[in-house]
Amino acid sequence: MISSIQILAFLFILVTLAAAADLYKVLDVDRSASEQDIKKAYKRLSRRYHPDKNKDPGAEDKFVEIAHAYEVLSDSEKRQIYDRYGEEGLKAHEDGHQASNPFDMFSNFFGQRSQQQTRRGPTSMTEFEVQLSDIYTGANIDFMIKKQILCDHCRGSGAASDGDIHTCSGCGGSGMKIVKQQIFPGMFAQTQTTCNECSGRGKVIKKVCPHCGGSKVVDHTAHYTLEVEPGMPEGHQVVFEGEGDESPDWEAGDVVLRVRSRKDRGGWRRKETSLYWKETIGIDEALLGFDRNLTHLDGHVVRLRRTGVTQPGFVQKIEEEGMPIHEHRGSFGDLFVEYNVVLPMELSPKTKRKLMEAFVGMEGSSHPSGDEL
Ligand SMILES: [Zn+2]
Ligand SMILES: [Zn+2]
Repeated sequence: MISSIQILAFLFILVTLAAAADLYKVLDVDRSASEQDIKKAYKRLSRRYHPDKNKDPGAEDKFVEIAHAYEVLSDSEKRQIYDRYGEEGLKAHEDGHQASNPFDMFSNFFGQRSQQQTRRGPTSMTEFEVQLSDIYTGANIDFMIKKQILCDHCRGSGAASDGDIHTCSGCGGSGMKIVKQQIFPGMFAQTQTTCNECSGRGKVIKKVCPHCGGSKVVDHTAHYTLEVEPGMPEGHQVVFEGEGDESPDWEAGDVVLRVRSRKDRGGWRRKETSLYWKETIGIDEALLGFDRNLTHLDGHVVRLRRTGVTQPGFVQKIEEEGMPIHEHRGSFGDLFVEYNVVLPMELSPKTKRKLMEAFVGMEGSSHPSGDEL
């Protein structure tokens, strides 16, 4: 009895420890992450782990964990408490409060977005070529993107300061103007048109932002790292969510990279999980057999060995020496080695005579005689 209670207590401690994973780590953000970063991270991760979509065992627990982290970190009061006092402080704070349902939270988050009909900026699609060896081994590749970001001086308003944004005097802020037109003597028609002084915005800027010249956005070079996973299929799309051009008029679209292997000068060819290599051998090797070393994409050596005759164009299959199979750690496709046979440009009379002697004695030789000798 006692021992089972002890085990239970021990398990309880384990469970508590597991639950207290760092909330910033759960959302994969820095402690200095902005509200926007936290929102983006939640958007990305909650979709990925939603049990409707992700059937992996543990996905639901992860989903609940993500929802909890977002609930805390998106609320500035709770976040402050968490930063200072950790989970314990939060528990004390939330005592008696009903914890949110992670599924309601998810549908609220995405539901509200669709109700608001937030316009999304354009998604940019870029073909991104990497070395085949990088796809073989996996690699992190740094790259830059030139894009527009909200001006950090005016935060996208286009005005030098908040005091320089005034309600339009032409329309009183409505963005519309009523124009009275006389169509007959004594008879007027009223038409409503977009205010020409503010272009319908209802606000005018008296002094434009000196940093962006009133355009609200500035050019920026952003740095990213592309994680090339071993065996990534050709054309695999890697999405950098919300990293497209920024504008005050829309929510930034995505940057999508389509990853492809560069046409390799080294002679390797890839088709899905198979690799192809052409090896050139001499006539002696084609006839007598050989033992050669082939240096693979990551530098390891594959032994190419044959005894007996190798026909030109013969393809040798070497299992498990192809490309890694994406998302199946430790599994590989096959390697196909095609043999080219090169003949010597000319033979010395002595070699010629010796070959004659050899071939005359050979069974099934199609050129049995040597008349000219
Ligand atoms: Zn106006
Ligand atoms: Zn500006």
